[in-house]
Amino acid sequence: MHNSDIEVIIVGAGPVGLTLACELRLASIRVTILERRPQRSAHSRALTIHGRTLEMLGLRGLDQRFVALGTSLSSGHYAGLDTRLDFSGFDTPHPYTLFLPQNTTERLLEERLLEDGVAIVRGALVEQTQQDDDGVTVAGTHDGAPFCLRARYLIGTDGARSLVRQQAGIAFDGVAATCSMLMGDVRLRHPPASPMLSLTNAAGSLMIVPLEQGRYRVITLNARRPQVAAAEAATVEELSQASTAIADYDFGLHDASWLSRFNDETRLARRYRQGRVFLAGDAAHIHMPAGGQGMNVGMQDAMNLGWKLAGVLKGYAPDSLLDSYHAERHPVGVSLQHNTLAQTAMLTRFDAHTLALRATISDMLAQPDVNRALASELSGFGVRYPISLGSDASAGSADWIGRRVPDWLLRLADGTAVGIHELLHAGKWLQLVVGNAAHTAQPYRFDAAWLTSLTIKPGCQPLAGIKSLLIRPDGYADHAV
Ligand SMILES: Cc1cc2nc3c(=O)[nH]c(=O)nc-3n(C[C@H](O)[C@H](O)[C@H](O)COP(=O)(O)OP(=O)(O)OC[C@H]3O[C@@H](n4cnc5c(N)ncnc54)[C@H](O)[C@@H]3O)c2cc1C
Repeated sequence: MHNSDIEVIIVGAGPVGLTLACELRLASIRVTILERRPQRSAHSRALTIHGRTLEMLGLRGLDQRFVALGTSLSSGHYAGLDTRLDFSGFDTPHPYTLFLPQNTTERLLEERLLEDGVAIVRGALVEQTQQDDDGVTVAGTHDGAPFCLRARYLIGTDGARSLVRQQAGIAFDGVAATCSMLMGDVRLRHPPASPMLSLTNAAGSLMIVPLEQGRYRVITLNARRPQVAAAEAATVEELSQASTAIADYDFGLHDASWLSRFNDETRLARRYRQGRVFLAGDAAHIHMPAGGQGMNVGMQDAMNLGWKLAGVLKGYAPDSLLDSYHAERHPVGVSLQHNTLAQTAMLTRFDAHTLALRATISDMLAQPDVNRALASELSGFGVRYPISLGSDASAGSADWIGRRVPDWLLRLADGTAVGIHELLHAGKWLQLVVGNAAHTAQPYRFDAAWLTSLTIKPGCQPLAGIKSLLIRPDGYADHAV
């Protein structure tokens, strides 16, 4: 392995590291991804891709690659309650969740990287990281041989036990595990009548979700054995006994392609940035995988960090822009921690009080506003960044700052119709000037080479009343005038 002027080292080629590498390559940043595994994991792990993540992939023209291979569903679960979250009403090309195994997601991201000529360095175990005023040093072994690399920045996307986080001395605050769930990707001799099943009662909780090729993901928490040591081997028999006890029905589990245990340990990195070191994904936040959020939030961390890091490395933006990564994404991590802890409380206790609480919250979810609020949070559509980064927006409309901009159809000055998201494919800022308005956006703090400026014809209804709109590379409005 050679140290040929690397600008960014990413440790960990999970979905988050891969997303970040795609973003950096889009800006022609020299990036190296180090991954200890010799091959991509074969396990399905995360199945749910939420609408906002798909939309973000769409901001780079990649969404259809994922949609073509997955199965969409316009609702999702919250704590496995009977009333489901409804995603169908969001103003987006993707008002649904997409079921796609994580190994396929990783493959598609890796293929995108290869198109840009970036290969993951597999079999590279990172053992030591250090930073100084000029850069970072990363050392370890690659296929057994030692290596030592230098770069300007280091990103830890190395998962829950992140070495990068530990060696940067970043605290990982939170709560220890209280229970362990058992899961298996199996075949069923007697599948449930409805392909998705979610049950919680005094015997425990059970979830069954269809996978590809006649397989099902079965997850159980057995009320009689809520805590099992991680080291205890998982078996189909144990999964079968637990699911039969909860459903009072034998689904005929057999032929497991993957069995595993996971728990509800919940932690959040105190800082997402420590000098030249950044954390994203599971390295920054872990929690019970309830509502399918960890990978999604991590990929959105990566989308937030990528263009900022590229802007600073290209000289378009000051270093201070990088501080906004923690300022914007840490609060999202706090919300993630809260909602998964709340779901865990309802998913892992089976006394009469908790079952009554479940019924009450399920009833409340039938109210559209309540349903919409939680659906916004879990889907990622509700994320908003409250501070303008591009300029002094004091003269602009506060309504727009940090709002997600949907893929509205615009008519350009030459009459061409185009969706806003397509205009962001290059990963630059976008300034839309309506009609003959002068360029009324506030003075732009970043280099103009990082900006696409277009005049659009008046008449796009959602933009009525504004003269210009400045949109960040990740599709959030910076501000409007
Ligand atoms: C059963 C289950 C179901 C889930 N379902 C969903 C879901 O539906 N939706 C969702 O959004 N999330 C879900 N999640 C969570 C999701 O799987 C994780 O949030 C996601 O994998 C995090 O991605 P990551 O890239 O941050 O980390 P990881 O996927 O953990 O990748 C980290 C990578 O870093 C590498 N690495 C670690 N240390 C080193 C080192 N020292 N040197 C080199 N490489 C290193 C690892 O080998 C690994 O490849 C689920 C999790 C589980 C367990």
